[in-house]
Amino acid sequence: MPLVVVGSVAFDSVETPQAVRERVLGGSAVYFSLAARFFTKVRLVGVVGEDWPAEYTALLQTHSVDTAGLQVVSGAKTFFWRGRYHANMNERETLDVQLNVMANFNPVLSQELRRCKFLFLANGSTKMQLNVLSQCVGPMLTVADTMDHWIRTEPQELRELMGRVDGLVLNDSEAKLLAQRDSLLGAGRTLLEMGPRFIVIKKGEHGALFFSKHEMYVLPAYPTDRVVDPTGAGDSFAGGMMGYLAEQADYAPETLKRAMAYGIVAASFTVEDFSVDRLLKITREDVELRMEEYRRMLTF
Ligand code: AMP
Repeated sequence: MPLVVVGSVAFDSVETPQAVRERVLGGSAVYFSLAARFFTKVRLVGVVGEDWPAEYTALLQTHSVDTAGLQVVSGAKTFFWRGRYHANMNERETLDVQLNVMANFNPVLSQELRRCKFLFLANGSTKMQLNVLSQCVGPMLTVADTMDHWIRTEPQELRELMGRVDGLVLNDSEAKLLAQRDSLLGAGRTLLEMGPRFIVIKKGEHGALFFSKHEMYVLPAYPTDRVVDPTGAGDSFAGGMMGYLAEQADYAPETLKRAMAYGIVAASFTVEDFSVDRLLKITREDVELRMEEYRRMLTF
């Protein structure tokens, strides 16, 4: 089943202890789409400015991402983010965020997009996420991501969103911040009480935790030797997870667990190069081979 994602489409400048990359292709919806495309048709909803190269849109299209919902606003600049990774490559600092054209982004979905059954609200303003959710008619599964910036600036909207989505995916530090709890287990349980049927807490190189009313489990990250740039790992995780769920047209507990594993495998590819470079080079077969290896690692 097709999958709609709404989120940021960005230029990212990334500093790691080894290298610096300026204004490379990034954004939550971009990483998500390129990871989800292995499983299902992805329709991207986002906005860019007139500085956006048409080649990037073409690149998404040649990787089977539907960009009909990508709006280009003349006289405006594309969202920009700059981050720096510490020596351990797990912690990062945001050095600059320029919302630019995203600041006033309020997409109006086409009739086709409104009827989409699987919806992912990737990182972006919570007000915008709520607006998109309100336009959708009878979705089967709605999942949202958020981050510290929105937890701090739009807390009320976020509480409303949590009462309306099926799932919430967020980082460990963000989960603690939103739940006002010091422990991850406590944070997961508190967030569940705020509305969603499941919560996924991403823990970077330590994998991801899943919480629902009936179960709680942790899946480790796939151990890769080549961590070049962790940017987009969280969005790729969500892309792999939602892509698999949309492909299966199902979100039963066993399907959700396999979807989490696909998310972890997708993220493990993303970190192996800068920007979306590694994701662009792999195929579904590469994903399946690594998934098989990951499955063997977890069997004892
Ligand atoms: P991740 O590493 O998965 O947490 O996501 C990194 C991506 O999120 C980068 O490509 C950024 O362009 C994008 N990003 C960073 N800050 C924001 C924000 N406040 N809203 C939306 N997207 C963001």
